[in-house]
Amino acid sequence: MPRLRDLIFFVTRRCNLRCRICFYSQEIDRPPGREKELSLEEIDAVAARLGRLDSLLLSGGEPFLREDLADICARFHRRCRIASIHLPSNGLLTDRVNPVCKEILHRLPGVRLILSLSLDGTEAVHDRLRGAPGSFRAAVETARALSTLRRESPALRINIITVVSGENLHDVLPLADWVAANLDVDGHGPSPLRGLARDPALSPPTAEEWRRLAAALLPYHQRWLERSRRSRLRRALAFNRFRYLYGLYGRVLAGGTLPFPCTAGKNIAVLEPDGNVRLCELTPPVGNVRHSRFNLKAVLGGADARRGRQAARSCSCTHACFLERGIRSHPGAFLSSLMPRMEARHD
Ligand code: SF4
Ligand code: SF4
Repeated sequence: MPRLRDLIFFVTRRCNLRCRICFYSQEIDRPPGREKELSLEEIDAVAARLGRLDSLLLSGGEPFLREDLADICARFHRRCRIASIHLPSNGLLTDRVNPVCKEILHRLPGVRLILSLSLDGTEAVHDRLRGAPGSFRAAVETARALSTLRRESPALRINIITVVSGENLHDVLPLADWVAANLDVDGHGPSPLRGLARDPALSPPTAEEWRRLAAALLPYHQRWLERSRRSRLRRALAFNRFRYLYGLYGRVLAGGTLPFPCTAGKNIAVLEPDGNVRLCELTPPVGNVRHSRFNLKAVLGGADARRGRQAARSCSCTHACFLERGIRSHPGAFLSSLMPRMEARHD
């Protein structure tokens, strides 16, 4: 089996929101059971058996609700020599996000920290989709509170992310303008709704709606890249990657297949708060590290995981982490993603 490179770890299923767009709501809404979140020592035992990782994405729930978030990062850094940590957040815990990011940057020099704050529309649209008045203002306040730290720390990157559904489709460009004019961040990345949302009335955009939106969003990506410190060549390559990824979203939304087999469970996998292991967020658990001496690789080597990997080869979705890893794992897709005008075509 290829080396595991990326781990998505849902550090908690606790959350301070109940968003209508949430694909993890079945877990979040489940009443507290006997199973406990993995403790720091258990997490350390998992990390110790993983070997080297490229990147770690700590999600939830709201990851900043874990009191030991910086310690979790430090354990993975020590055990797995990770190069980058990605923290998606709803941005509600303004007083916590800034100091925790500061602590991670201070304790883990050399690690790239990417904080992705969710804004799903301009104020009224965002608050409606997130089901909480004031959630837009809180996320914006968090982004603003991080400005100084971002300027002082080149290793910190702050992104705004937007889940696009039929409900906010027409608010994405006004939001993109608002973010560019009002926030001191590094980029804004809309992507289509995935999985089963808490509110079943929400659905992803159609392929045609996405194609039109993507065409309008690409110039924004160009401008974000122009603001970055990257060389001209790296900016051009990054832009081509965005365009390729957006083409893949359109292809999947049109009912097409990915131009490469999904690598879920091979070089990217998911660990849940109670120790369950999944090949990806949308497939069922294939085992639990608590029943496998905290050896996540042993779980991925089991029969259920092998069957799941076989099924994943012909599966398609719009999850950016898995698409990015798939692109990097398949030389043909990787080359296409770097080329100008090599958009993934609809079937
Ligand atoms: S989408 Fe994120 S912030 Fe919203 S309920 Fe789900 S986990 Fe919590
Ligand atoms: S394409 Fe891969 S990541 Fe997406 S749902 Fe299927 S197995 Fe999971």
